[in-house]
Amino acid sequence: MIVEGDGMELTNCAKCGAVFARNVIDICPKCYKEEEEAFKIVYTFLQKQKNRSAGLREIVEATEVEEELIIKFLKQNRLRTSQFPQLQYPCESCGELISEKTLCQKCSSNMLSQWGEAKEQVEQETENKEYGPSYHTLEAKRKDE
Ligand SMILES: [Zn+2]
Ligand SMILES: [Zn+2]
Repeated sequence: MIVEGDGMELTNCAKCGAVFARNVIDICPKCYKEEEEAFKIVYTFLQKQKNRSAGLREIVEATEVEEELIIKFLKQNRLRTSQFPQLQYPCESCGELISEKTLCQKCSSNMLSQWGEAKEQVEQETENKEYGPSYHTLEAKRKDE
């Protein structure tokens, strides 16, 4: 997002490193254009009935678009894997082949439980602060001695 007030916020393009005004996307206008071109090529390729069952590797070979980029489109949900059953890519965490989102079932439930634990810990710490911080306990102990 462009920050109002202090003018534009500059950032480096995640792809080529060029400095550009930050936007909702993480790449510069030049790379954005290139990616859009690549998307069109892949999309057009997959529109053809006979290409619907193509796997990732076949698409890379036929379109000469980088595998990484095609995976990016898949993760952005711009290419619907439900329409292309052979389109699978590795889970970001364990590398298992998946066809939707960025993580496999196992890793995403792992991540969720990690969040659950972290939240519980934070809540517990907050509780401890409210119902008696540790230094109080120490003070009380000293008095008892
Ligand atoms: Zn760039
Ligand atoms: Zn995984």
